[in-house]
Amino acid sequence: MNGLSISPSAALSRWPWRRWRTAWRRWSLWTLLVVLVLSMLITLVWLAGRYEASQVQDKLERDTANAVADIRSALGRNLQDLQALNAPSRTDADWPARAAQLLQVRRELMRIEWRDAGMHVLGQAETPYRTQQWEDPLRSQEAHPEAALTCTHARRINGPSYSPSYFQLLAEGLGAEMMEVCLPLTQSGHISGFVIGTYNLQSLLIAHVSKNLPRTQEVSFTEPDGTRLALLGASWRGTRMFTAQQLLDLPGSTLVLRMDSWHRAPSVFPNVLTALVTLMSIALVSVVVVLVRDNRRRLRAERDLGDALAFRKAMEDSLVTGLRARDLQGRISYVNPAFCAMVGFTADELLGQDRAPYWPPELAAEYAQRQDHRLSGATPPVREGHESIFMRKDGTRVPVLIFEAPLINAQGQHTGWMSAFIDISEQKRMEEISRASQERLQATARLATVGEMASLLSHELTQPLATISSYATGSLNMLAMAAEDPTGHSSDGKRQGQQLQDLRMIMERISFQASRAGRVIKSVRDFVRRRDQSRQAVSANELLDAILPLITLQARKLDVRVVTEIEPGLPAVYCDPTMVEQVLLNLARNGMQAMDSREITRRELLLRARRVAGDSHGRWVELSVADYGSGIPETVAEQLFTPFFTTRDEGMGLGLSLCRTVVEQHGGQLQHSPHVPQGTVFAFTLPAHTETE
Ligand code: ADP
Repeated sequence: MNGLSISPSAALSRWPWRRWRTAWRRWSLWTLLVVLVLSMLITLVWLAGRYEASQVQDKLERDTANAVADIRSALGRNLQDLQALNAPSRTDADWPARAAQLLQVRRELMRIEWRDAGMHVLGQAETPYRTQQWEDPLRSQEAHPEAALTCTHARRINGPSYSPSYFQLLAEGLGAEMMEVCLPLTQSGHISGFVIGTYNLQSLLIAHVSKNLPRTQEVSFTEPDGTRLALLGASWRGTRMFTAQQLLDLPGSTLVLRMDSWHRAPSVFPNVLTALVTLMSIALVSVVVVLVRDNRRRLRAERDLGDALAFRKAMEDSLVTGLRARDLQGRISYVNPAFCAMVGFTADELLGQDRAPYWPPELAAEYAQRQDHRLSGATPPVREGHESIFMRKDGTRVPVLIFEAPLINAQGQHTGWMSAFIDISEQKRMEEISRASQERLQATARLATVGEMASLLSHELTQPLATISSYATGSLNMLAMAAEDPTGHSSDGKRQGQQLQDLRMIMERISFQASRAGRVIKSVRDFVRRRDQSRQAVSANELLDAILPLITLQARKLDVRVVTEIEPGLPAVYCDPTMVEQVLLNLARNGMQAMDSREITRRELLLRARRVAGDSHGRWVELSVADYGSGIPETVAEQLFTPFFTTRDEGMGLGLSLCRTVVEQHGGQLQHSPHVPQGTVFAFTLPAHTETE
């Protein structure tokens, strides 16, 4: 989850290369898969074709072997029949008839001869199926050379012997491939003669192979070198030929039986098996296509997910809000870059920690307790946030505002806590600056008030000073008169005593007026000097007493009567007295100025302190200043609290806006309403002092 270890610029520079490599790997894999599937399909089709060919070949081999076996058994049977011609029980006179009978049923035999041991003809018969007679007239007298050789061999082995095949010209230019068989006849252990049969190889094939021969097959006797001797079959020829050969091993001669089978050109789907394999291959290819599509969809989803993740990461990285996730054991499982920047630790230093290194040592115990409390699940998350102090790696403190929420995973399980942090050091600094400037503004406003008061002061001081001056002059006169009196020494003590008494009285009055002037000056100086910021419990009485001398100064000048009214048993007010005094002074001054007109006949300023109506718990105290002045028109009321708004030539327009700020800082409200029957009431609330504070 934490990707902070890769710098974005490095990731960007590596991106095209990585992308190219991923694409190449993906495509090469797919190409490999397609090549493998295709080669497998081709191999399967080829193997199926081969299998079918081998089946055909096997069948052909079997057919050939069967044909050879058929021929062999036929030859064996014929040998028996030839042997039977000269059976001892038979008479020699019947021999030609017997031989003719045999030739009638054995069509492959062309001729049968009976010769004595010296190879002289004793009897002979020819096949009735061939009208043409042997061309060789000698045949009846002398044995055919092949027959003679075969009989020699038969004599030697004392058993039947076959001759190699030979071509025999027949009548009318025809010819046929023949083979002789010589069967020695024995009488009391001596060879008494021979029975020689002549086989027509072609007829042999017709008689014993043609029955089972399909139209597509061709059977032939060949010599070992491949020369065809006799051929049969194959009325239909295809484009592909299968061949099988089998040796027909006979005593004295060996023939090769060759069978050729013709087939159609090998098709792509030669049989069901191949078709099945092909179907399966098509199914396989379809599955691959579906897989490819699925993979493409997956890739798209992956890309979308990647985009979403990148978007989320960019969002997280651009956040100025610090984010931190903790699991249910309190271990940090995630921090974002803004959080790392806030506390000055790297993600690696923070992840997995359950006692965070950014907790200031002096607060660590409290924080640990708070964390345990949170992890125990005893309290719901504080959505409105709470302030806390963290310690940066360099030891400096940073005030933060924390919002916590439970971390719920996709399965809806509670897996930990997610916290958002806002660095409020700047906000705090601004608040401090604003507070300081507010203070400065208030000091300025106070000084402005003092400036205004200076004229009142001079007016107020003229009276005691004039009195002092006239008393001083009177004293001087009295002193001068006493000095000029020549009878001073002798005058009566009564008059002297009277003068001294007058002088004391004058001095006392001078002293009284001087202390009165001093008090006036002191009250102004106190107001300017007092800069105590702390809040404290102060009674409404004390607040009003503190400002009354100053109000009276102006009231006297403007001929206004000041009335104070304090509700009995009123609780003390918890406030910053200096500020609240200034608010009262401002409101009183505004009220008196509103009555500074000839038309106003009732010049009375009412300063009142009482409980707030409807506040049964006595939490608030209301202070109000009511006048009988001109009242506030609608247009003025709209801008009343706007700084620098004033209707007076010498006004600054700061008074009411400052008043409202001060009241709101105390948690109260400043409101104005018309005063019945005439004028305006400005009223504000302040928190009452409770014992716990
Ligand atoms: P300043 O007194 O310097 O003009 P303030 O903010 O105290 O500034 O007052 C703003 C304006 O509100 C005054 O100029 C005056 O027109 C009006 N105002 C304030 N108090 C009263 C009042 N009691 N009766 C009528 N008008 C008032």
